[in-house]
Amino acid sequence: MNNHLIDIAQIVAVSEVNGPGKRAVIWVQGCHKRCPGCWNQDYLKFSSVWQLTAQNLFDTVKRMTADFMDIEGITFSGGEPFAQAEAVADAAVLFKENNLTIMSYSGYTLAEIQRNDKGQSKLLAVLDILVDGEYVKEQHCDRLWRSSLNQKVHFLSDHYKSFEDSINADVREFEVVLSANETRMTGFPKDELIPKI
Ligand code: SF4
Repeated sequence: MNNHLIDIAQIVAVSEVNGPGKRAVIWVQGCHKRCPGCWNQDYLKFSSVWQLTAQNLFDTVKRMTADFMDIEGITFSGGEPFAQAEAVADAAVLFKENNLTIMSYSGYTLAEIQRNDKGQSKLLAVLDILVDGEYVKEQHCDRLWRSSLNQKVHFLSDHYKSFEDSINADVREFEVVLSANETRMTGFPKDELIPKI
């Protein structure tokens, strides 16, 4: 494991709308894309305001979740987790070694990730689920864990294969996260609740 720093945007200890079961969600900071309609605008600019090593990130989430008692897995979102793939992979391996499942979103497709070998394969290897593809406003949908029809859910291990049959059901869930500094929606809220950009 190296000591690369991960640029973090936000961490939520327990969410039930960003993947299967109860999961801690880590939003990384920075994405090269600018998909029209992306509602994580604050997380697109690369910045080093909050940086953690893989070990620091692991320890932080462990502390936030009472030694992982509250969760079954970790979801990486963003921003673009694969823009910091090597460092994110180091953290993902630590979580996996503690029997947590790993899911990640990416604005790139699985095929694009597989073509690019700058640490991406290392992150891919540890994932149970990848939700791939950028948000396309014209293909907006209410499918489980994603919000445009081009986005696909890839089950990269057997752990969540039982979800395969229900993955195209229409489900729209969101949570409101309250913290000392902000109120933020996560998940997939209705259009009228999304701030217009
Ligand atoms: S890839 Fe995702 S985070 Fe990046 S701009 Fe597109 S929707 Fe937003």
